[in-house]
Amino acid sequence: MDAETFRRLGHQLVDWVADYREGLGARPVMSRVRPGEIRARFASTPPEPGGGLPAALARLEADVMPGITHWNHPAFFAYFPSNTSYASVLADLVSSGLGVQGMSWQTSPAATELEEVVLDWLRQLLGLSPAWTGVVQDTASSATLCALLCARERTTDHAQRRGGLQEGGAPLVVYTSAQAHSSVEKAVRLAGFGIEHLRSIDTDAVHAMRPDALAGALRADVAAGRRPCAIVATVGTTNTTAVDPLEPIAALAGEHGAWLHVDAALAGSAMILPECRVHWAGIEHADSLVTNPHKWLGVGFDFSAYYVRDPALLVRVMSTDPVYLRTAQDDAVKNYRDWHIPLGRRFRALKLWFLLLDEGAEGLRARLRRDLALAGTLAGWADGAPGWERLAPVPFQTVCLRHVPPRLAGDEPALARHNREIARRVNESGEAYLTPSTLGERGMLRVSVGAERTGPADVERLWALLRRTAAEVEAEG
Ligand code: PLP
Repeated sequence: MDAETFRRLGHQLVDWVADYREGLGARPVMSRVRPGEIRARFASTPPEPGGGLPAALARLEADVMPGITHWNHPAFFAYFPSNTSYASVLADLVSSGLGVQGMSWQTSPAATELEEVVLDWLRQLLGLSPAWTGVVQDTASSATLCALLCARERTTDHAQRRGGLQEGGAPLVVYTSAQAHSSVEKAVRLAGFGIEHLRSIDTDAVHAMRPDALAGALRADVAAGRRPCAIVATVGTTNTTAVDPLEPIAALAGEHGAWLHVDAALAGSAMILPECRVHWAGIEHADSLVTNPHKWLGVGFDFSAYYVRDPALLVRVMSTDPVYLRTAQDDAVKNYRDWHIPLGRRFRALKLWFLLLDEGAEGLRARLRRDLALAGTLAGWADGAPGWERLAPVPFQTVCLRHVPPRLAGDEPALARHNREIARRVNESGEAYLTPSTLGERGMLRVSVGAERTGPADVERLWALLRRTAAEVEAEG
């Protein structure tokens, strides 16, 4: 492709993205295609002649868009938000345009140094002390795996540099709440602890980890000759955004010499609001934390911020030193390839920089406060409506509720079916998209507010849709 064609197609595509964003509200939120439907629109063999790209715009609309679920839609209330601001889209364009691979400082000093700058800005915005140093990772799952690898190495005095886990010794144990994200279990398996050495700690009435249950599990393992290695606490669980109490958990971690990793994948963003920081009181006692600006904050996927208190330990665990990667500046700079699992890395720092330039910290705070207020309004409507029940507190922007028609009250399996059917109809209507879930045996509708374009009218429409759909399902009995 020559530069003129790139310019022409590039301008067309920027227009196309802007048109898409501005017209989003008219599209069904959840894709309605059936499995295999998109694949069938494409040839089964690759094109031999080139020159087909100018037709891509039409093909995008005809053959790709039907298979898109619109995460930036104002009626997107599913999972957690994954906002990709316009600023972030432009930053990705710059990153691709530069084509930088920033594995070492020398391979593009700006990629490393801008990342240092924006992660320190983010640290300040989150109210964290200067004791924390950050690195951009792809996802929270990877960051949590890094945390558990570091915990393993700290407890075993870097056994990976000798016989690794095959040296033997007393089993290492990891503790997390029964409501922790599945990435914790995955990291435990991948890091070689073995699932038998993951303790799933009971939660209390508000679905947060019970420190007394954690203390009991730690005591039992120590008595049995096992080694407590790491505790993963969650601030903002995936199901209900419950908050594990960090102060008592950190005290137990200190008592047992266990690593404390805090998963604040969603709720970390809320800590740019001073009034939310009460939810992670005790964070300064943790060894590591992860938060995903690629969820609520508006930095397009992927951008996960992993902060540690002991970067030297992280580097010792993650580094390799092959001769072909050495550079003259190694002693004076950060080589971020040694701060995570992959070697190569994109210039992701641009996305947070552009977002902050565009919205400013003030703009981000205003948007998050809007979302907290919208979630509070929906929670209030659910609390005041006969036949509706809220299942969890709303510390952030996610509301867990269910419809309880008197006919089904007390019959949990029937209530779970009833609410699943409401969710199915809402999602298939295309008017909104939410996540059906369960809390124990109780079925629920999980409404996660926070898409960039969601406003009061969208939440009002959702509430009307929920009530209408619940009445329809109930009428059909
Ligand atoms: N931790 C929590 C609390 C989450 O809610 C999620 C995803 O929603 C994750 C971890 C995993 O995030 P990622 O997709 O960045 O791995």
